[in-house]
Amino acid sequence: MKKDLHPKLVTCTVTCACGNSFETKSVDSELRIDICNECHPFFTGSERMVDTAGRIEKFKKRYAKN
Ligand SMILES: [Zn+2]
Repeated sequence: MKKDLHPKLVTCTVTCACGNSFETKSVDSELRIDICNECHPFFTGSERMVDTAGRIEKFKKRYAKN
C-alpha cells in the first residue's frame, strides 16, 4: 500500500480459484486469490492477501526433505 495516499476501504469481492467468492474490506473492489478460507482452513480469519507462491515454495522445500 502506498503511504502517501489514504486508501479507502471498500467492499471488495474476492474470488478464489476454487470458485468460492466472498466479500471483505479492501482498497480494491475486486481481488482474485488462489486459496481462500473455504479451501484452506489455515487462512481463516486472515483478511490479508497471502503470499501463496512463497508458501508453496516453503511447502515444497519441506516436502523435499522427506
Ligand atoms: Zn478457495
